[in-house]
Amino acid sequence: MPEFRKDPVVNRWVIIATERANRPQESRIAERPHRAGPCPFCSGNETMTPPEILAYRDKNSQPNQPGWTVRVVPNMYPALLPDEAHERSTRGFYETMSGAGVHEVIIEVQEHATRLAEVDDKQVDDLVKAYHARMVALRQDKRWRHVLLYKNEGAQAGATFEHLHSQLVAMPVVPREVGDELEGAKQFYEQHRQCVYCAIINADIADGSRIVIETDQFVALCPYAARFSFETWIVPKRHDPYFESASELERGEFALTLRETLIRLDRSLDHPSFNYVLHSGPSGATQEHYYHWHLEIMPRMSGIAGFEWGSGFFINTAAPEDAARLLREALR
Ligand SMILES: [Zn+2]
Ligand SMILES: [Zn+2]
Ligand SMILES: [Zn+2]
Repeated sequence: MPEFRKDPVVNRWVIIATERANRPQESRIAERPHRAGPCPFCSGNETMTPPEILAYRDKNSQPNQPGWTVRVVPNMYPALLPDEAHERSTRGFYETMSGAGVHEVIIEVQEHATRLAEVDDKQVDDLVKAYHARMVALRQDKRWRHVLLYKNEGAQAGATFEHLHSQLVAMPVVPREVGDELEGAKQFYEQHRQCVYCAIINADIADGSRIVIETDQFVALCPYAARFSFETWIVPKRHDPYFESASELERGEFALTLRETLIRLDRSLDHPSFNYVLHSGPSGATQEHYYHWHLEIMPRMSGIAGFEWGSGFFINTAAPEDAARLLREALR
C-alpha cells in the first residue's frame, strides 16, 4: 500500500509506492525501432486498461470499445489508492499518512500518436474538455485537497508509454510546489495589493519581450526567472484561482493557445521531450484574491543535475527573452 512520509528536516512529503516498481517501462524499450507487445492505449485494446471513467465517443459506440476521441481510465500502477482511509500516524517523531488518492490516465488520442503538437484542434479541444470534466468531478470529493494534472511527453520527460497521455492525481495534501506558489502569491498580495500573476501579465504585455502569444483571453509567455530553457507558461488574462471555473469560451481558447504553443516549441526545438503541469487553486484554501491558475510547460533539454539537486538553483542557458523571440518567429 502506498504511503506518504514526511521528511522531519524540511517537512517535505514523499510517496512511498513500491507497487509502481512493477510497471512496464516502455520508454526503455521505445528507443528500439519496435515496441514490445501491443499498446494498451491504442483503440482496439480497450480491455488492456481498467474500465473507462469517462470517454468522448460516437453515439453508436459502446463503453470500453473503439469509437472514442479521448478516454480516461484509472492508472494501472497508481501512486495513490482511492479506497485507503485518510489516516495520519506517527512512529516517534516520524509522521506518516496513508496513501489515499486518485490516479487517472487521460488517453489523448485513439491512434498511436506520440506528439501532441501533431494532433488537430478538435482533438486538443476534447482533451481540454476532459481535463476540465475530471478536475471538476474530483474537486467535489471532499477527501482531496488538491488535483494535479500533468503530462510527460518523450523519454527524457519520464514518459513510460509513448502513446499520448496525461495524468491526474487527486491527493489529500497540498503538494510543495503549489504550497510555495500560494505562500509567495500571498506575500506579494500583502505587499502590493495585487495578484502576482495578474501583475506578471500586465508587466510582460507592456514590455513585450517575453510574450510568445497573446489572444483575447490568454497569454503564453517565457517567465522572467525561467528555470528551464524555453519554459513557457500559459496564463488566463481573467483573474481566477480555479481552472475549474473557466468558461466554455475560455477553455476553447486555452486549447488553441496550448496547441499553438506546443507547435512553436516543436518547431523551435525539433521535437523536444517536455512536461507540463496545470496548477489550479487547492480546495478549502482562501486564495481568491491572490492565486491564479496557469499551465507551465517545461521542455527537457537537459537533465536536472547535481548542482540543481544540491542547491535548488536552476541554471538556464537560454534567456527567456531570446526563447520568446525564437518562439514568436517559429511559424513565420
Ligand atoms: Zn498506442
Ligand atoms: Zn490574478
Ligand atoms: Zn505553477
